[in-house]
Amino acid sequence: MSRARPSAEFERLRTDAASCTRCALYERATQTVFGEGPVPAALMLMGEVPGDREDVEGHPFVGPAGRVLDDALAAAGIDRASAYLTNAVKHFKWRPAGKVRLHQKPNAKEVAACRVWWEAEVALVEPRLLCCLGATAAQAVFGSSFRVTRQRGTFVTLPTGVEATATLHPSALTGIADTHAADDVCPRPTLPGGVDPRPDAKKPIKDKGCGGKLPDKTLGADVTTDVVVK
Ligand code: SF4
Repeated sequence: MSRARPSAEFERLRTDAASCTRCALYERATQTVFGEGPVPAALMLMGEVPGDREDVEGHPFVGPAGRVLDDALAAAGIDRASAYLTNAVKHFKWRPAGKVRLHQKPNAKEVAACRVWWEAEVALVEPRLLCCLGATAAQAVFGSSFRVTRQRGTFVTLPTGVEATATLHPSALTGIADTHAADDVCPRPTLPGGVDPRPDAKKPIKDKGCGGKLPDKTLGADVTTDVVVK
């Protein structure tokens, strides 16, 4: 039997996710917000959960945090269109507050239920670097003991061979416009050795963000047991 083309596999994955009922979050959300971008892609950015605008529009990173991310990517010389963007959890979790819907953090069961989708995305996208944005995404990949504030910028090779790191979610810096903050949002991601994951990169780029931190010695063990990307 011939193997389906990656694009066909991706469309089937997106279609399957659109009708997912693996946890209760689908009941109150407008739609599944699946990942978008080139497949394959050198850089995959994974946020936490869709926000209000993402839920309405059906696309990741289109709200205020998305604009912060756009600025950070532009400052890093990375074309947003060259990266694959997704979230660790695909349905908006919220609670009513008057006429607005307030974002709620997904719990561990919801994050675990949604794992099959981002694992499948990683398998198809085959990124050279997976950059987790925020604690929920980072802990989904590296394990519950991972602390973004302490371990962001750490590079870990996942069992599949994909390099992964984590940094703050753009929403943490919404409203902060200085250059240093922009670097913190997306710290010019590089692979170990200074290799630039940008598809058109000609030479290594200087890491102005969180690089240079030594990996936590316990992290490798966590990842070995917690991250199995099939
Ligand atoms: S949040 Fe994820 S696991 Fe839960 S219903 Fe939505 S797609 Fe399925």
